[in-house]
Amino acid sequence: MLKTKSKGIFIVISGPSGAGKGTICKELMKTSNNLWLSISMTTREPRVGETNGVEYFFVTKDEFEQNIKDGNMLEYATIHSGQYYGTPKGEITKYLDNGIDVILEIDINGAIQIKESNKEALFIFVLPPSMEELKNRLIKRGTETKDKIIERFKRGYQELNSITKYNYVVVNDDLNNAVEKVKAIIMAERCRVDRIEDAFLNNPEEFIHEELIDNKLFENEPIDFE
Ligand code: ADP
Ligand code: 5GP
Repeated sequence: MLKTKSKGIFIVISGPSGAGKGTICKELMKTSNNLWLSISMTTREPRVGETNGVEYFFVTKDEFEQNIKDGNMLEYATIHSGQYYGTPKGEITKYLDNGIDVILEIDINGAIQIKESNKEALFIFVLPPSMEELKNRLIKRGTETKDKIIERFKRGYQELNSITKYNYVVVNDDLNNAVEKVKAIIMAERCRVDRIEDAFLNNPEEFIHEELIDNKLFENEPIDFE
């Protein structure tokens, strides 16, 4: 039997702030049952409607630095206005080992750190349809002041230079379309030859091949070959 490796896929999603990464991930989680979305730790203030332990683990700078010292962070970076953002090691390995795909929605610096430690990870970059639309989405989201929006917008523009470090790019124009594309990418990754093990080698199926070659397979079969 041909089997895919039982390990889950480590999926990293990045892109400029406001491109729609969070929205896409939420949609993915609604419709996929083999997926776990990692909850990051941050020192930034919670937005209205955000809950500790849901969107992020909100901690103080001291708490974050203690977690770094204790070796609890898989990766971390200082991003907007010098705030820490990072992925707690938590139970990621357990999920991957149990065949569950794990999504990290993180910035480019974090993605580079993951690339160094996890060669099999899958990297997806989400783009807005245009910079104009990115600006509109940041304004419409209404979660940042004008100064912070400008800071995010500038950073987003710089991040575009890193797109070649990723395996796939998804333009988030129509949301459903973008979600379907991400699902298709994950599906395609599951079919990659290097994610397949036991390809009829060293298992009972291989003997069928040997028996066929020795003509033993048809010994007791009254097949009339013309
Ligand atoms: P990110 O996580 O990349 O910072 P968000 O997921 O918070 O971005 O999306 C930014 C804003 O854009 C949100 O208000 C969200 O509702 C909106 N949005 C996301 N995707 C789309 C889309 N395909 N079309 C229009 N608006 C979108
Ligand atoms: P926001 O403040 O809009 O929630 O997130 C800002 C940026 O931080 C986004 O680019 C997001 O991808 C990034 N980010 C969120 N969590 C993490 C994390 O755990 N590690 C890293 N490196 N970046 C993160």
